[in-house]
Amino acid sequence: MTQYQKERDVAVQAIAAAAAICKNVQREISPDVLEKKDKSPVTVADFGSQALVCRALGEAFPADPVIGEEDSKELRLPESAALLARLVNVVQQVMPDATSGDILEWIDRGGQNTYCDRFWTLDPIDGTKGFLRKDQYAISLALIVNGEIVVGALCCPNMTAHDGTDGVIFVAEKGSGAVEIPLGKATETPIQVSPQTVQANIRTCESVEKGHSSHSDSARIAALLGISADPVRIDSQAKYATVARGDAEAYRRLPRDAKYREKIWDHAGGVLVVTEAGGKVTDIKGRPLDFTCGQTLAKNIGVIVTNGTFHDAIIGAIDELKIGQFD
Ligand code: AMP
Ligand code: MG
Repeated sequence: MTQYQKERDVAVQAIAAAAAICKNVQREISPDVLEKKDKSPVTVADFGSQALVCRALGEAFPADPVIGEEDSKELRLPESAALLARLVNVVQQVMPDATSGDILEWIDRGGQNTYCDRFWTLDPIDGTKGFLRKDQYAISLALIVNGEIVVGALCCPNMTAHDGTDGVIFVAEKGSGAVEIPLGKATETPIQVSPQTVQANIRTCESVEKGHSSHSDSARIAALLGISADPVRIDSQAKYATVARGDAEAYRRLPRDAKYREKIWDHAGGVLVVTEAGGKVTDIKGRPLDFTCGQTLAKNIGVIVTNGTFHDAIIGAIDELKIGQFD
């Protein structure tokens, strides 16, 4: 038994259950939902995912707070009655006895917003735009103890596992390495970052949304470092998974302005999966990410994820190009 074996197992089961809800809802999205710009499917799946994960954590670790992305304030308003009814319906598909009262209570277990010595952080659906496009999205869960991520878990329902299965869970425990598990199976395959050492051959990934990470700055870095391949654009923490299993050497998240602070739930799960697979994660100035500030990475700016080999070269290029220096 490793130190956080139970936490790791509960995390894997919790995100797998949440993925069942997300997949059921995503299957029902019709093309006109996108045309109408109707975001309600992702809202329903987001709340359903948070409810199931927080329920599982509450049963196994009742004393643990959860810093989750969602709360139930909006759902409790009278005008949200129809949304709540849809939510109850999708949760009952996987948990027939759940009542609306239960579901609201589970969601609110994710309502912690300040730092403490031991807490979980959850993004019930990371990459909401990818979810609506039926593209990549992730359920991200991490346990942080004394400021250190000790368990990180990602479920990427639309990634393909090594054995060809649709859907993958990536999980890591500090000091024990990272593995991938095909969704719905129990086989664990260790994963490792890419062994690539030739700079010109670096494969990179970045956000689809240019509002989340500067595409023009990533092109300037590529030109300076002689990287020839175009970045692959992927929504969500599936980018961390892509670096962790060696399908890309770098993921860059380059700030668009001086004010935005990254949210801890957009990173914590992915960070441990990458570092335990042998990679490196810092902010754009090369500083470690600091998870002791509450909901945000208040002391960091941007995020750089690599297989390790190319980390200093990318940080050096960012400095030389004055990326993220807004004054
Ligand atoms: P991605 O799918 O990697 O583009 O990231 C999705 C996440 O970007 C969401 O969960 C948001 O929390 C986060 N986000 C929202 N606005 C910004 C921004 N201005 N810069 C960076 N990330 C953002
Ligand atoms: Mg997110």
